[in-house]
Amino acid sequence: MSFIDLLKRYENFNFKEYISKVTLEKVDNSLRKDKLTENDLLNLLSPVAAERIEEMAQLSHKKTVQYFGRTISLYIPLYISNYCSNECTYCGFHAGNKMKRRKLSIEEIEIEAKEIAKTGIKHILVLTGEAEKVTPMEYLVEVIELLKKYFPSISIEMFPMSVEDYTILKEAGVDGLTVYQEVYNRDIYKEVHTFGRKSDYDFRIETPERGAKAGFRLVNIGPLYGLGEIAPEAFITAVHAKYLDDKYPDTEIAVSFPRINSAENEFKQKYRLDDRTFVQYMTAFRLFLPRVGINISTREKAEFRDNVIPLGVTRFSAGSRTEVGGYTDHHIDDVPQFDISDTRTVAETVKVIEERGFQAVMKDWELI
Ligand code: SF4
Repeated sequence: MSFIDLLKRYENFNFKEYISKVTLEKVDNSLRKDKLTENDLLNLLSPVAAERIEEMAQLSHKKTVQYFGRTISLYIPLYISNYCSNECTYCGFHAGNKMKRRKLSIEEIEIEAKEIAKTGIKHILVLTGEAEKVTPMEYLVEVIELLKKYFPSISIEMFPMSVEDYTILKEAGVDGLTVYQEVYNRDIYKEVHTFGRKSDYDFRIETPERGAKAGFRLVNIGPLYGLGEIAPEAFITAVHAKYLDDKYPDTEIAVSFPRINSAENEFKQKYRLDDRTFVQYMTAFRLFLPRVGINISTREKAEFRDNVIPLGVTRFSAGSRTEVGGYTDHHIDDVPQFDISDTRTVAETVKVIEERGFQAVMKDWELI
């Protein structure tokens, strides 16, 4: 069964009504189980489960340590181009924005890579806007060939590709793929993706699966919290992660929890994921998906990230810049894709992780 077929099960499901009727007794029953069903997950995402947030946090901590040890893997993003042919109404890089656009040359990328490598991080996430003609496959292969001299682990967050193109990039040295559906609700998806290839919901939703088929070791998915109703978006994300985890056991699946940042294109968000609900949902994910990675980026404030270290998170970005060329030649008029909230350096992030009794993992993969 494809994930699109699986999604059809929930097309007419009234999430709001279901979760509003969940009782504390149901939540407690779900918390006593070792293996959670989709109904258990819904129970833990319900408003009444907020009363059990302490228990959820403790159980999530235990499960995370059991499956991942006391480790937080670190990665750093590298923006190489901000050209984009899509119109995502929530993003500052959208095609209609008359901002200054930039694509780094191979020489400029090497300068950035050398600077990033000084931090000690060995896992890089390479990002572009979605403009296939500006960043064609030949350019991307050249970029990867260069970056693997400095980084044994390379993930990409770029325009969705075919299995064949992902296979070319895998052979060049890429081992991870990040692709966010942004919003799982089809109607809202259509409203916020008004133009460009990204407006094809089905093509996008099947992208993580194409990455797994191409053999990437890591596939990272997520919604952008704030675009759609929070609970259904969280639920479908978890079901998506489980579908991928069950179907592709050789691939490590991870989920991210990005929240819309107010700076993004002055987008007026209708839905808000507050800090407490964030923690409730993150711990619910951990209990439903014990071996799936959980990624929290520098979009989140430093203090918040520090507090969630023991609660289920397994991956942090650190020392991030979200402008093209942001590590070495920061221009005053460069536009970041989103504002960074946690502006600490990699060394400062490592220090905090260690102070919390966890190990900051700089490298967990070797290209052979
Ligand atoms: S979210 Fe991605 S695809 Fe959409 S406008 Fe921004 S860079 Fe382009």
